[in-house]
Amino acid sequence: MLRFAPSPTGDMHIGNLRVAIFNYIVSKQLKEDLIIRIEDTDTERNIEGKDKEILEILNLFSIEYKSLFYQSANLKYHQKMALQLMTQKKAFACFCSDDKLDELREEAKKEGKPFRYDGFCENLSDETVLNTNAPFTVRIKKPEQNIKFTDLLKGDFDYAPFDVDSFIILRQDKTPTYNYACAVDDMLMDISVVIRGEDHVSNTPKQIHVRNSLGYEKEIKYVHLPIILNAQTGKKMSKRDDASSVKWLIEQGFLPSAIANYLVLMGNKTPTEIFTLEEAIEWFKIENVSKSAAKFDIDKLRFINRKHIEMLDEMRLSKILGFADADIGKLGKIFLEEASTTKEIKEKIEPIFAPKTSCEGFEEEFSKLKECLQKAPFFEDYEELKKYVMEQTGLKGKNLFKPLRYILTGVDNGPNISDIYPLIKNYLGEIIK
Ligand code: GLU
Repeated sequence: MLRFAPSPTGDMHIGNLRVAIFNYIVSKQLKEDLIIRIEDTDTERNIEGKDKEILEILNLFSIEYKSLFYQSANLKYHQKMALQLMTQKKAFACFCSDDKLDELREEAKKEGKPFRYDGFCENLSDETVLNTNAPFTVRIKKPEQNIKFTDLLKGDFDYAPFDVDSFIILRQDKTPTYNYACAVDDMLMDISVVIRGEDHVSNTPKQIHVRNSLGYEKEIKYVHLPIILNAQTGKKMSKRDDASSVKWLIEQGFLPSAIANYLVLMGNKTPTEIFTLEEAIEWFKIENVSKSAAKFDIDKLRFINRKHIEMLDEMRLSKILGFADADIGKLGKIFLEEASTTKEIKEKIEPIFAPKTSCEGFEEEFSKLKECLQKAPFFEDYEELKKYVMEQTGLKGKNLFKPLRYILTGVDNGPNISDIYPLIKNYLGEIIK
């Protein structure tokens, strides 16, 4: 069983989507189920509606999953298992106040050391614990031995007990902390492979320690994916980069199939450059993903997007562009010479249908032509139309072509009119109004 475990705390980042895609591909390859676990136990950071947005994005990318869980629904298991750990003396109640812990943090900072719990409450007697009427957190006792694990991309890790620390598993309000809830749920859901971002590497020994303490022996395989850098600035793709938001990319007219293609291609060895997710399932090797940071290059994504738009069924493209006519889909593809996203194509098509009142520098010719076109019979062919207006108006050369292009397309230049005309001829009435 594999899982994608997003927190509903903000817009879905391309890094999260890459994690979801890799989990999807690997689950298909292993013929194991993929589940979605919304990690919503940090109620202060949750943002209403973000869970739905994440699910909509997964749907848009055709990432199928077996079932959907909300981590908060497992609260009673998190609490029950914490109690079990306390009974077994593997966890303990900690009455240390925030002020005291802040002091310890300050001291550690002054000494240039990382903060670790000083173990004050670890050996309180049962009697003291039972007679202390103060709020408490629950901490797991740090391990007695080093925690070791192997990451498929990054190799071997070895963490000393000091680094795992006696960390909090239940907050004062008895809700679970991230590392604890994640470890318990991975165990309850029988997860076999965890694929996630490399920011979680240092959480892994804590999660293994929780499972070990609960007596769970099954080993989980870990893959931590490198961070994504902005190829243009060389800095980490952060919220400040618009392109880091999947929602933004979609709004800009990047196709989900192209975004998915690029997120698999980026920092990877692939047999071809342009592919679908279903094709990638055939050859993808997670161990071939580069262990150094992946570089997100929006220009490369634009190139890939053009290729995916080219591959789109014309009726489908037309619908994306707001029409229901395969000819408009064909027209959209002609504009790929100058546009890379469906939004940019739309912006090229809009002027064709926009009302045109005059053509700068050719005002007289424009009026003459418009009048002529409004009365003209229907022509299948652009050459015939051209011949007709030439004869009727006496205009020729640039005095004819400039205003004619303008009336038909709403702009001064662009692809050949003879290519465009057959695709818009059925709308002439509307276009020359
Ligand atoms: N909820 C975590 C996150 O969004 C994911 C943790 C995990 O995959 O284990 O970063």
